[in-house]
Amino acid sequence: MSSITLLSRHRGTSHSGKENEPFLSVIVPMFNEEAVIEACHQRLCLALDRLNRMCELIYVDDGSTDPCCDLANQFTSSIHQVRTIRLSRNFGKEAAMTAGLQAASGQAVILIDADLQDPPELIPAMVEQWQNGFDVVDMKRNQRHGEGWFKRSTAALFYKLMNRLCEIPIPENVGDFRLIDRRVVNEINRLPERTRFMKGLFAWPGFRRTTLMFDRDPRLSGQTKWNYSQLMHLALEGITSFSTRPLRIATGAGLLTSVAALAMAVVVFAKTLIWGEPVAGYPSTIMVVLLLGGVQLLSIGLMGEYVGRLFIEAKQRPLFVVMDEQFQDIEGMSEEAKA
Ligand code: UDP
Ligand code: MG
Repeated sequence: MSSITLLSRHRGTSHSGKENEPFLSVIVPMFNEEAVIEACHQRLCLALDRLNRMCELIYVDDGSTDPCCDLANQFTSSIHQVRTIRLSRNFGKEAAMTAGLQAASGQAVILIDADLQDPPELIPAMVEQWQNGFDVVDMKRNQRHGEGWFKRSTAALFYKLMNRLCEIPIPENVGDFRLIDRRVVNEINRLPERTRFMKGLFAWPGFRRTTLMFDRDPRLSGQTKWNYSQLMHLALEGITSFSTRPLRIATGAGLLTSVAALAMAVVVFAKTLIWGEPVAGYPSTIMVVLLLGGVQLLSIGLMGEYVGRLFIEAKQRPLFVVMDEQFQDIEGMSEEAKA
């Protein structure tokens, strides 16, 4: 208890000696968010102003085809630093968040969606938990407004499966909206994998964690960028990046079918040799062939998923490419750096 109190007193004070180091970095990945990005910036600034500390806002444009990055380049603040990082194409939200995490210099980082589904007004409460000594503040959704029962139940099934298969617990209904202390950010930045299942990567380092409940709002405008096949891909990515248990299940299924086939062979032999019964062949043969074929194909496909990921990891390509970056310091002076 006393050590936590001691730590909390140091949280957010510039003990590193860097006076212009931001207190907090807020990372906003955005992809075609023209309709919402201005409202997002306004609400973020209002929430950050309540902290009375200099913060850093990092907008990562994930290859948008609309002018949302140009809008973000115009954003200013008299208290906070504003940065925009434009990626050279759409690399996916995971890569955009990774770019933001690598660029952030705050003593803690908050990841938040641009569409205002994660209310910026909750930031002071998250910071309070951090100052109480927690290293990660996970934001758990109370209700999933604007999402049908199908999405809700498939999401619940995914978390159940994930937690059954993986060694590290992945908190249920916690998205990417969270606060992460600098020490944990440094650990996440050290993880080299190319297939980045962020929910797993955020959970992997451990540290002291707490969870705050919140009501997730519907999207302010526009449409979700995820369709069901992408969500399916994400689920498969999550499972194959954090567990090899499916491979063991495939081995188990192979063993089970072999034992069952052997038992069946004994029964068929006994029936024919002892009671002289004719073998009713066709339906049972087809059933066994189909069953075995299914199990074999499934196992090969599963192995393929892992081999495919090995192939991607082996190439060691960078996760994203930065096209240009703009840094708006507090006085509103802008600096542009082209990569
Ligand atoms: N996003 C991104 N790259 C993508 C897809 C989405 O940076 O390829 C951003 C998007 O602009 C938003 C956040 O990720 O800020 C969440 O996306 P979305 O609202 O589509 O997902 P959902 O809330 O439906 O899970
Ligand atoms: Mg959204």
